[in-house]
Amino acid sequence: MHIVVVDPSKVVHRVISAVLEPRGHYISAFVDSKEAHDYIVSDETVDVLLTSLEVTPLSGMELAWRVRTLGRPIYVVVMSSQANASSLAEALDSGADEFIEKPPRPEALIARLRAAERLLAAQRKLLELAERDPLSGLYNRRAFFARLEEALDQTSSTDKLSAIMFDIDHFKAINDSQGHDVGDEVIQAVSMNAASVTGIVGRLGGEEFAIILPGAPLANALELAEGLRQQFDSMRYPGSNGLFGVTCSFGVSEYVRGDTAGGLLKRADQALYAAKRGGRNQVAIEGAGLPGDGVQTASNVRHTERAIA
Ligand code: GH3
Ligand code: MG
Ligand code: MG
Repeated sequence: MHIVVVDPSKVVHRVISAVLEPRGHYISAFVDSKEAHDYIVSDETVDVLLTSLEVTPLSGMELAWRVRTLGRPIYVVVMSSQANASSLAEALDSGADEFIEKPPRPEALIARLRAAERLLAAQRKLLELAERDPLSGLYNRRAFFARLEEALDQTSSTDKLSAIMFDIDHFKAINDSQGHDVGDEVIQAVSMNAASVTGIVGRLGGEEFAIILPGAPLANALELAEGLRQQFDSMRYPGSNGLFGVTCSFGVSEYVRGDTAGGLLKRADQALYAAKRGGRNQVAIEGAGLPGDGVQTASNVRHTERAIA
């Protein structure tokens, strides 16, 4: 595990490292608790915080509390040479999972870390279950929007980011003719292909999906959507009367300065609706200043690509 150790004494750092590193743990040691805090915020690989109460400028309690409120699965162990009932209670109230005496006895420390490993594994499993749609394995709607908000927070007004929404065409008829179970298999196959895209991929509802491409301008999103469209169009599934295929319609939009998650996806959804109206099995893009009803469909995608270039 990746363990952040915070203690004013470098001797303590060395003692703890000597116990834990031979057991395969990776130690990042800090004297300054604020530096330790900033490191934990920026490094998502940290599994455990092991901090003394007597650290500065943030006290061990405050550091424990701040790390607990990051909302990530991090196991917090507080150490103190004054192990008494009141500091134990205070540490646990501050969000620590464990309290140990300083200097920690090796076997006590190792036992705490075994408990940490078990708890972190369980917490990560729960987080995974809460974020994933069980049928497709993609992000569920709530997790997708949370990831999109994070991506928008990290997007400056000059950065590129694009959105793709797509929906399986005439899916109700597939369910009616092939049965719901076969319909589920189609959703799984479509999802598996979409999941191979590098981006934030979610199942927003029944047979409707969205992909966020941080860093990608509209032209890249369009190309990717067109690639997926062709791929889906060529896939075949075993049905009651031999093989059958399904198609999908796509809508693409690009982040503009001041955009919200809702605004970005609404424009992709409007484009998707235009793709449906235009005959399905096609990619439509939002129409930023282009002629027509504000939305371009595949029949004039080439024109739009020239406009973007
Ligand atoms: P359109 O081309 O306009 O999108 O038509 P459509 O038939 O795909 O759209 P509609 O919204 O009328 O129907 C969507 C269908 O998707 C209805 C619903 O029963 C089915 N569906 C939603 N979720 C699931 C699911 O998890 N599994 C299966 N098998 N079907 C689902
Ligand atoms: Mg549909
Ligand atoms: Mg739909």
